Amino acid sequence: MPGLAIVGAQWGDEGKGKVTDLVAERADVVIRFQGGNNAGHTIVRGSESFKFHLIPSGILYPGKTCAIGNGVVVDPKVITEEIDGLRRRGIDVSGLKISANAHLIMPYHMLLDHAGESKLGKLQIGTTRRGIGPCYADKAARLGIRVQDLLDEKILRQKIYAALEPKRQSLRPFAKDPVLDLHAMTEDYTSLGHRLEPFITDTPRLVWDALDRDRLVIYEGAQGTLLDIDHGTYPFVTSSNPVAGAACVGAGVGPKDIDDVWGVAKAYTTRVGAGPFPTELDDPLGDRLREAGGEFGTTTGRPRRCGWIDLVALRYAARLNGLTGLAITKLDVLTGIDPLQLAVRYHGPEGASFDEFPYHQSIVHKVAADYVELPGWDMDLRGVRQLSDLPSEARDYLSFIEEFVGVPVVLVGVGPGRDEVVWSGAARHLERAAA
Ligand code: GDP
Repeated sequence: MPGLAIVGAQWGDEGKGKVTDLVAERADVVIRFQGGNNAGHTIVRGSESFKFHLIPSGILYPGKTCAIGNGVVVDPKVITEEIDGLRRRGIDVSGLKISANAHLIMPYHMLLDHAGESKLGKLQIGTTRRGIGPCYADKAARLGIRVQDLLDEKILRQKIYAALEPKRQSLRPFAKDPVLDLHAMTEDYTSLGHRLEPFITDTPRLVWDALDRDRLVIYEGAQGTLLDIDHGTYPFVTSSNPVAGAACVGAGVGPKDIDDVWGVAKAYTTRVGAGPFPTELDDPLGDRLREAGGEFGTTTGRPRRCGWIDLVALRYAARLNGLTGLAITKLDVLTGIDPLQLAVRYHGPEGASFDEFPYHQSIVHKVAADYVELPGWDMDLRGVRQLSDLPSEARDYLSFIEEFVGVPVVLVGVGPGRDEVVWSGAARHLERAAA
């Protein structure tokens, strides 16, 4: 499996960071292919916890090539801060590479994001207001500024000028904001460019090179399938494509360069921000999941909405991504909840029933889930390392998911720690590497 894509199979925050980190040890290259610093990964190593917003999860392995692909949008201030933060903690960042073709988040993108959300009032999408959406919009409008532009002050200034001009109208309330000054912005970004220069590179070549040598390349996704701008619950989605197909575009490879696709899903479901969520538990049980699972955003600290596992949505995600494996995280969080419910169908207010994820927004917003009930367990799972040591109820829960979705479970998370994981037979070859 030289090319392995690891994607979120729900609404993000599934624990992709930990799963990628586990496999990254064996990889030559880990490359992020979309999103920006709206994503947040938490990796726990012993007593230390690391939070990353832009840097790929494998960075904790000394010298590992960790690339930020062309499909990612990069805030140069944030990446510089992450580099400084890691260096302060003694982490070697020499393996970090940033695509010269990745687009840059500019100060006006953040202001536009803010202005856009404020204008929407109650209809807010719940963006993180980090300028990611406006940055992707400029990319499509051919007004984007790319990482390579940081290396030529004259070109940078020209491009900023051209990009700023059409925004004057919408940014009028911010007209006096010093960050919008063309010269100050050019200077600021040029000096960030000097700092980032050693990391800027032609990232697809790094990936091709590793693939040609038959080495493992991990394409690391951010957010999750149901937040995909094409296939998710539009408009309550992110501004990029978190599905595995986007790894081709965002890393610069062909479909044949992806041999396996793992979907990461929690044993329940969470969602941040607004938008439909058919299995949401807006009750004390939802609060319990939030507390037990620590469901507060890595980047924003926002409480996440919690609910039962949604197998209709998960099966949809499996098909969209062509999943070859499921990584089920946070099974430990369900300990003590009995019975457990798994959504297997939706029904609309008029009684229509939906076995498949509905494409129409009005329907997705109104459906409620029909559940299958399975018994829970009381055993603390955090010490379990073998599938056979899980209580039979937990094994049945996993088997039900596997059969319903039609994709084998490759690993199961039983705690936040790196070693708190149960590998299934399907991924044995990688387990040895990660041990
Ligand atoms: P990501 O963006 O998909 O990587 O997800 P986050 O990093 O936002 O959220 C994952 C959180 O869950 C982190 O704090 C992890 O340490 C934690 N976590 C990951 N796997 C497990 C697990 O199996 N059990 C528990 N209890 N926590 C986990």
